[in-house]
Amino acid sequence: EEGMKCEVCGKEEAVIFQAHTGRSLCKECFFNDIKKRVAEEAKKQGITEARKVLLAVSGGKDSLVLVDTLSSLISPSKIVAFNIVEGISGYNRKEQADKLASYMKGLGVELISTSFKKDVGFTLDEMVNSSNAKGLNVSPCTFCGGFRRKLINNAGKLAGADLVATGHNLDDEVQTIMINLIRGDLTRLVRIGDSPMKVSENFVTRVKPLRKIYEWETTMYAYLKGYSFQEVECPHIITRPTLRAKVRELMYSLEEQRPGTLLNIIDEFDKVSESIRSSSKFEELPRCEICGDPTSYGRKICKNCELLIRSGLLPQ
Ligand code: SF4
Ligand code: ZN
Ligand code: ZN
Repeated sequence: EEGMKCEVCGKEEAVIFQAHTGRSLCKECFFNDIKKRVAEEAKKQGITEARKVLLAVSGGKDSLVLVDTLSSLISPSKIVAFNIVEGISGYNRKEQADKLASYMKGLGVELISTSFKKDVGFTLDEMVNSSNAKGLNVSPCTFCGGFRRKLINNAGKLAGADLVATGHNLDDEVQTIMINLIRGDLTRLVRIGDSPMKVSENFVTRVKPLRKIYEWETTMYAYLKGYSFQEVECPHIITRPTLRAKVRELMYSLEEQRPGTLLNIIDEFDKVSESIRSSSKFEELPRCEICGDPTSYGRKICKNCELLIRSGLLPQ
């Protein structure tokens, strides 16, 4: 039986249905659509003008799409991929990392790897065990996210990158917007937007080229590129903050009822964010008295150092 034809080229057989545009697309037209949308974001975010961009990669599908699309947009010699091993038992992403490494070799992209153990002195497991022993009720993801940000920033500075890019997709970004709205965290909220915001002279500016690509699209892109594998799930995923899980579910059901909802939310939000930003002035962040990294307003030591102290891993 003859399948449906692609509604863009009219020649090839359609392999995906893009609910938010109502179109059925063939493989090549789907790749082109994603690349075009990433290119638009990359331009707004200054990636096409950057001298060097550090890409934070994990070996998962989003990092594949990140490397694949950006290396077709800017010279691979301007890209450095950066991978971190957190040190979580039962969560060995070596297979994923190896696969990504060989894929990047093919694209001509340099890869740098490090670990929490090497750069912080402790694996994530060690941090979580010490924190639990002290009776702290801190989610492993709080340690993980905080130290990952720190290491990514340091690697970006070391590589001489003017931007660091992460693989966050549209679903991630809208969830983060909603969570910050619910918490009333305006400082974090306005950092999100379609043009990068310099938060501190000591932070390499962060960009998210995939922020307008649906998660199912990154999955499909990786799959259609032949990059299919069993994505290993972190054992801590179940203890992940439940607010995100709830918001995630709500967003899925809204998107299902009206395809394109997530794109509408982000487009409207970006306009609001832009106008708030233009009416507030830039203030340099204070520096942590221990590690020297920028920290939030009103803090003397950063959240990461505070977590290590409270876990008994850093002398006070
Ligand atoms: Fe880190 Fe939490 Fe993600 Fe596991 S689920 S990798 S601990 S952020
Ligand atoms: Zn086509
Ligand atoms: Zn610190």
